[in-house]
Amino acid sequence: MKKEKKITKIEFDLIENGLDFILSSLEPILNQKNDGQLKYSILHISAGVELILKERLRQEHWTLIFDNPNSANELDMLSGDFQSVSLETSLLRLENVCKIQFTDRERSSLKELKKKRNKIEHFQVNEIDAAIKSLVSRVLSAIFSFVTEHFYYKTFAPRTQGQIDDLRKKVKGFEEFTRLRLAQIKDELETAIENYEIVNCPKCYQETLPVSNELQCLFCGFTDSPHKVAELYVENIQGYSRYLELKDGGHFPLDQCPNCYDESVVEIGDHFYCFSCMEVWHRIQLAECSGCGNLYEPHDDDNDICDACESDRYTRWEKANP
Ligand SMILES: [Zn+2]
Ligand SMILES: [Zn+2]
Ligand SMILES: [Zn+2]
Repeated sequence: MKKEKKITKIEFDLIENGLDFILSSLEPILNQKNDGQLKYSILHISAGVELILKERLRQEHWTLIFDNPNSANELDMLSGDFQSVSLETSLLRLENVCKIQFTDRERSSLKELKKKRNKIEHFQVNEIDAAIKSLVSRVLSAIFSFVTEHFYYKTFAPRTQGQIDDLRKKVKGFEEFTRLRLAQIKDELETAIENYEIVNCPKCYQETLPVSNELQCLFCGFTDSPHKVAELYVENIQGYSRYLELKDGGHFPLDQCPNCYDESVVEIGDHFYCFSCMEVWHRIQLAECSGCGNLYEPHDDDNDICDACESDRYTRWEKANP
């Protein structure tokens, strides 16, 4: 009986602390306070999110909040002295064990926040203010739906219920920011839609990045080299990890352009887009060269290889048959 009571207390610590961390960190982001505070905000929101996810795991089974459930023991849990589960593994366990479905967007926002948190020393606050707000906004709505859908509101203590109500208001505040910003760029965006393909920005996640010469997000101002933007797009929007794809022998879907040779081609829907020269192909217009693996425009009697590989083969044949 005594043990039960202690565990119940920890339950409220996790969820209450998680919400506390998050709620106390939002003002500096909404009000554009100084750099130092913004850093702590990112740290605290990230910590708060993880605590809330862990609480749902703990409700499933307390060993699930251990990095290695096989070595879990109750004494360590009560003292808090153990290696706890990482964000990545938390999400996997929530999906596989608790059968909780996250949307791609929710998953990538939570991971992106964690990435920001891990690079906090190199964090530049003037970086892109709107991108941070937009990211935090997405994280908040993800965590708000998580709390309301996967916990029983009525079982929470009044203080926790108050925190959840507060979170709902804050989510609205951030949504309001997004709405205002979108209204600000409305005309610009409409003109861009007439002239260019518009894709989701890998920094702020809004669908406000025209694939144009400038390659600059209208919502948050993010821009970089075409290769970098394309690479971030594949990672943040499409959810691929170059490291994992290479490790598992898969294909990281960022290809060399058959037109400008920049490694900036991504596949979106039925089309390939080059972020560098802005060329667009329908997916059936390009094939993968069986020699070098690059994309090329296939034609009859091309032997399934690209022109470069073809002329390479010819040069070698010439050498062997002088
Ligand atoms: Zn953006
Ligand atoms: Zn190109
Ligand atoms: Zn080739």
